[in-house]
Amino acid sequence: MVSIIDGNELSRGKRLIMAEEAGDFSRKYGRQPGLAVVLVGEDPASAIYVRNKKKACEAAGLRSFDHHLDAGTGRKELLALIGKLNADPAVDGILVQFPVPPHLDPQEIQLAIDPGKDVDGLHPYNLGRLLSGTPTLVPCTPAGIMCMLSEYSVALKGRDAVVIGRSNLVGKPVALLLMMEHATVTICHSRTHGLDRKVRNADIVVAAVGRAEMIRGDWIREGAVVIDVGMNRTEAGLKGDVQFDEAIKRASLITPVPGGVGPMTITMLLDNTLRAAKNHVEKK
Ligand code: NAP
Repeated sequence: MVSIIDGNELSRGKRLIMAEEAGDFSRKYGRQPGLAVVLVGEDPASAIYVRNKKKACEAAGLRSFDHHLDAGTGRKELLALIGKLNADPAVDGILVQFPVPPHLDPQEIQLAIDPGKDVDGLHPYNLGRLLSGTPTLVPCTPAGIMCMLSEYSVALKGRDAVVIGRSNLVGKPVALLLMMEHATVTICHSRTHGLDRKVRNADIVVAAVGRAEMIRGDWIREGAVVIDVGMNRTEAGLKGDVQFDEAIKRASLITPVPGGVGPMTITMLLDNTLRAAKNHVEKK
């Protein structure tokens, strides 16, 4: 019998605990943990993400600082704002919503953020900490995936995990985190031969590709755990990377799209902000 991982329910529980922690923090230090969200331009999907993050932030007792800059904002102006936020003691976390307009360099932006405030976990310092086995601020989607696996008591030690996708945002960090939990990890990408064979051998499948339903249900091994990161807008609505209707016939545990990984990503953003806030007051 398949179980569906309920990312919304899990998130609700986690966010309640975080709200208590944020309340304790505010009472103790006389301020709320603060997250600054920077949006450049008018991309409608980004605007929705930013609005959802702001709502979640405030519901969990965190303070959000919004900076909506127009699409023509130059690099100097954006870097100056990041510098200001780096120096602002009320700001514990800084998130620049990607994608940014093409005249801005995402890598330069990421590097400009103080690693201690990098709640996306994508600064090379934080990625390096993860690689060296001493993670600090971990990218939110991979952290959310690990949280789900742990909450659903999925055994990882010695098991075969296949990660499809090798982005810095999802594929690489989740592969490292699975390896840290002693899974044997295979990372697949667009040049991988025999993807179906690799998936068929996996106890745990993490699909982070960005192609609607490309992982066929009959590739899934009987009893496997399937984490679908994909968010693909199609005429039939939002679809994951996994052919869900067929995969549920074989998986033991699977995430739906929507309602699986997505809400956990925002929850881990709040978690990283709280973590960063605690680190800041402890450093003083
Ligand atoms: P990305 O940077 O575009 O990376 C996609 C990866 O998939 C690449 O490594 C690419 O391989 C690989 N790939 C592409 N076509 C393939 C194929 N035919 N066979 C095997 N691998 C293939 O995407 P991302 O940022 O990691 O995001 C992946 C998906 O997750 C997207 O749908 C995105 O919207 C979603 N996402 C969801 C959340 C959430 O919170 N739910 C968060 C982040 C991302 P190459 O490296 O060889 O090009």
